[in-house]
Amino acid sequence: MQISRWLLPALSAAAGPFSANGAQAASDNGFAVDHAKYANRAVLPDFTAADCPTNPRALTQIKGNLYCHTTGAGLAVHSGLVLITAEGALVIDPAMTCTAGWLRDEIRQRFHVGVKYVVYTHAHTDHISGAQVFQRDGAIVVANKRALEPIVGEKLPAALPDRVFDKDMTITLGGETVQLHYVAPSHSDSLTMVLFPKYKALQCTDVCQSKSMPYNDFLDFYYPGWIETLDWVAAQDVDVIDIGHYSPGTKADVVAERDYMVDLHQQVLDLARNGQSWDQLYRNVHFSDQVKTWTAFDSMHTLNVMGMYRWVSNHRRGEW
Ligand SMILES: [Zn+2]
Repeated sequence: MQISRWLLPALSAAAGPFSANGAQAASDNGFAVDHAKYANRAVLPDFTAADCPTNPRALTQIKGNLYCHTTGAGLAVHSGLVLITAEGALVIDPAMTCTAGWLRDEIRQRFHVGVKYVVYTHAHTDHISGAQVFQRDGAIVVANKRALEPIVGEKLPAALPDRVFDKDMTITLGGETVQLHYVAPSHSDSLTMVLFPKYKALQCTDVCQSKSMPYNDFLDFYYPGWIETLDWVAAQDVDVIDIGHYSPGTKADVVAERDYMVDLHQQVLDLARNGQSWDQLYRNVHFSDQVKTWTAFDSMHTLNVMGMYRWVSNHRRGEW
């Protein structure tokens, strides 16, 4: 629980099923955020707002009413699941303001519905930018309550959430059920798992991988909760996992990633306990042949060691 005291008065209990025009059954059990408390909050310039006509973008069917949107190219691609229902769409992490308008129009033209909900996976601006485009049209922006403090404190130029939750939240939309769950601090302390039970699909952004390396030096990182989160994912009845980047993965990919993280942690801990300095240690970490084939191995592996070295160094005390 990292939320600042001064934010707490802004939260109030949900008043029951949401109803936009009195005729719809869309509902959720989140808590309303009082935007008046933050009416004049400072925000930084939006680095994703400039026109980007050549930036790749797509909305691709996963199965049934479940789709995946992507924006960006190559290693910069960001993604999120999109649920289409007769009552409106639910979009996870628009990611870029400059393609959010395209996504809104694409959903409207192909499916003749607006966007009813935007869900944030966590309070990192490279995933949540663009939500204000949907919020202006009346979409409800949802996040874990722990996302509020960094969004405000870091002056992130993304929509302030309208509704938040602590451990679990359920959204009912067009007869479909979407389950939001908070496991533990892992990649940020606001990471939300978004489960689509009917489709056996899960949004697990940044902490889950798909034959790909975790990003750089594990910024905003909590090792025990990362493993706890991967264990939670492995226990779910899912066969499609969107990881917020690249291509969707599977539970087998998540299990392989867990093995990698546990092995990396143990190697770095053992080397640190042997008294090795960073300059010695990073040269002595070994990677399996499987891991060496993962996306971005060359650019990420030494940074991964750095991130784990930092975590280990901050969480041990030997004889001194
Ligand atoms: Zn992130």
